[in-house]
Amino acid sequence: MKDRQSLQTTLIHSDYQAPDGFGALPQAIHHASTVLFDNVAAMRARNWQDKSGYTYGLHGTPTTFTLEARLAEIEEGRHCVLAPSGLAAIVLVNFAFLKTGDEVLIPDNVYSPSRELANWLQQDFGIAVRYYDPMIGSGIAGLIQPNTRLIWTEAPGSVSMEVPDLPAICQAAHDKGVLVALDNTWSAGLALPAFRLGVDIVMQALTKYQSGGSDVLMGAVITQDKTLNSRLESAHMRLGFGIGADDAYLLLRSLPTMKLRFEAHDAAARKVASWLSNRPEIATILHPAFPGCPGHAFWQRDFTGAGGLFSILFDPQYTEAQTDRFVDGLRLFKIGFSWGGVHSLAVPYRMKGMRGSWPHQGQLVRLNIGLEATDDLIADIEQALQLL
Ligand SMILES: *Cc1c(COP(=O)(O)O)cnc(C)c1O
Repeated sequence: MKDRQSLQTTLIHSDYQAPDGFGALPQAIHHASTVLFDNVAAMRARNWQDKSGYTYGLHGTPTTFTLEARLAEIEEGRHCVLAPSGLAAIVLVNFAFLKTGDEVLIPDNVYSPSRELANWLQQDFGIAVRYYDPMIGSGIAGLIQPNTRLIWTEAPGSVSMEVPDLPAICQAAHDKGVLVALDNTWSAGLALPAFRLGVDIVMQALTKYQSGGSDVLMGAVITQDKTLNSRLESAHMRLGFGIGADDAYLLLRSLPTMKLRFEAHDAAARKVASWLSNRPEIATILHPAFPGCPGHAFWQRDFTGAGGLFSILFDPQYTEAQTDRFVDGLRLFKIGFSWGGVHSLAVPYRMKGMRGSWPHQGQLVRLNIGLEATDDLIADIEQALQLL
């Protein structure tokens, strides 16, 4: 064959095969759209849904299957589906479990782009959306209608950090046959055993602690139940939510250190928050481990740790212009969205426009506490507070 074959074909069909027996610690990166079958029968027999083999790059490679399995282990789940961002994972859940005529209940402190998505589902797809007070607890039973299909929860909620009574919400939902999905990003799945509390579907923005590098966008949806996972797999296939092999590798590289990083973020954030709690400029520390945070008692009951992300409410005497000066005056803290990386970040939020109701006066700034020396971060905040 080789004698008659042109070099052009040899460039595509080489005979070389690397020897077997290579062992190394990193997970191999498999790049593939096309996946090969030994023969037609093997191709016809292969099922893309059960993950017992490979069919097409979109449905997984050894690299992505390994990442999925590891993420499921962290959450005590059995199944995991990856999506190209945390928001895409939210889209996946909504499209898997909602159809025209259904209703979804969403906490008023939900991650803002999720609210944008829900409003779109309402306007253009005929899915009813109602927002509830994140502290509603078992009172959610009173909101559940015959067409309520899904209840979203977030623990704690984005930016304002209220911790919901998850077991009470799950109990009320399950009494009426409604599914509960949790955005568990803040705890990275390390500090909140969601399935034990009754949650059906766990969503993660892997962009945060799982990446840890402020470089990868990815999301995951984790379940224990095979039927729920099948719905998610179907939605994933229909939406075409593929992820890049190199991105999957970056996450596999970061996961082994995630718990140590998370605990370091936790300790540093509590130290910074404690220091801030003694400052006259700050009215309230919105950190679940601090008593001023709504739902602090639920955090104590349900969580085993805390993330490095929290918010501060300034005394109402300070104007937005003043607190903007504080944020602009920070040197180590950079201004930017997302979190979970080693760099400290600060973002001021205009809460009134984000929420159905927001009772507080005073400006809110959200802080991601990175892995710089905590004393340096405190010194940075101290000098920026002078600028108020
Ligand atoms: C960042 C984030 C998301 C979305 O993740 P992306 O990967 O940025 O799309 C969803 N939920 C929460 C709570 C987040 O912080």
